[in-house]
Amino acid sequence: MITKRELRNLAGSADESNNSVLTVYLSVDPAKVSNTNRGFESTLHRLLLASHPPVHGVAEARRFVEAAEYIQKFVSGFQPQRRTLALVYDQADRFFWVRELNVRLQDSAHWGLRPYLKPLTEAIGAFDQYAVVLIGDSRARLFKLVLGEIKEYLKPAGDTVPSIERMILNEHIDRLILAGPNVLTAKLLRAVPKRLKRITIGRVELPLEAGPESVLKAVSPVIEAFEHEQEAKLVDDLISAASGTSRAVTGLGRTLEFLNEGSVANLVYTEGLQAAGYECPQCAALFSHDRERCSYCGSPLIVVNNLSERMIERAADSGARIHPLPSQDAMPLSAAGGVGAFLKIARVSHRAPL
Ligand SMILES: [Zn+2]
Repeated sequence: MITKRELRNLAGSADESNNSVLTVYLSVDPAKVSNTNRGFESTLHRLLLASHPPVHGVAEARRFVEAAEYIQKFVSGFQPQRRTLALVYDQADRFFWVRELNVRLQDSAHWGLRPYLKPLTEAIGAFDQYAVVLIGDSRARLFKLVLGEIKEYLKPAGDTVPSIERMILNEHIDRLILAGPNVLTAKLLRAVPKRLKRITIGRVELPLEAGPESVLKAVSPVIEAFEHEQEAKLVDDLISAASGTSRAVTGLGRTLEFLNEGSVANLVYTEGLQAAGYECPQCAALFSHDRERCSYCGSPLIVVNNLSERMIERAADSGARIHPLPSQDAMPLSAAGGVGAFLKIARVSHRAPL
């Protein structure tokens, strides 16, 4: 399972002086007819060698071949379990990243300055899109932020507020940051319509001529603080919903119980959560506590050391949204073992009547 943070780190991992990053999305789905007898290996060969992405010059060709060989070697020893393999190899520093995903993505290979993450970000679809309005005395500039990258959107023509609104609409912006001299951003914040005010998460002081990298540097702490705040609120909401209503549960055992029944809508847990437990080889149910047989189908259980990973995968497969939280934000959840879930439907009591 890929987290927002991981993708953001990945987006910022390349050194970006030369094309050196090969990104591959490959369907390895064992259920696909074309993948019997490891057909995905020939698909990869075709992607990389027959119709490989454009490469210029001898030195770049050498870098590409090294990256292509590395990825092919990895795939040739790989035993697929899920649908798609996402691979990134940066020849410049021999950085390698791979994930097996349970979503279907188009087979493709991309060569460039940095990892090509669009298929992943679209698949995940749970990212807030941020934009920055940088204003000066007579004009404004608009920037869009995607996964740690910044792009100047356009030179707005005409009035500032209508061009902000157009960008928000066209670019599906969720959150806005105002930048510029304090007095101007304060004035702008008073002037914008309520719906823009609602999505504005902060203001930073910057000169109008600031370059994109300086803008990014200035707004990053605002975004980080906002995300921490959202995560802390999520934990508070979870704990109060679990104690006061029937729409949430906390604790590993309770969470697994509802996960086994497919009724988890949002799984919330502390990043790096470690737990061992039991899995049913027959119906794949997971259990945190010592028992011999599956309470759903009666099969003998097997011990699994990576229960938390199984839980996260199972939740993602069932369409639940996954919220890994840094331990400082998830602190209030630690008394409940660092895990809990919002449920699709209100839970019914599982306890036998007294
Ligand atoms: Zn079972």
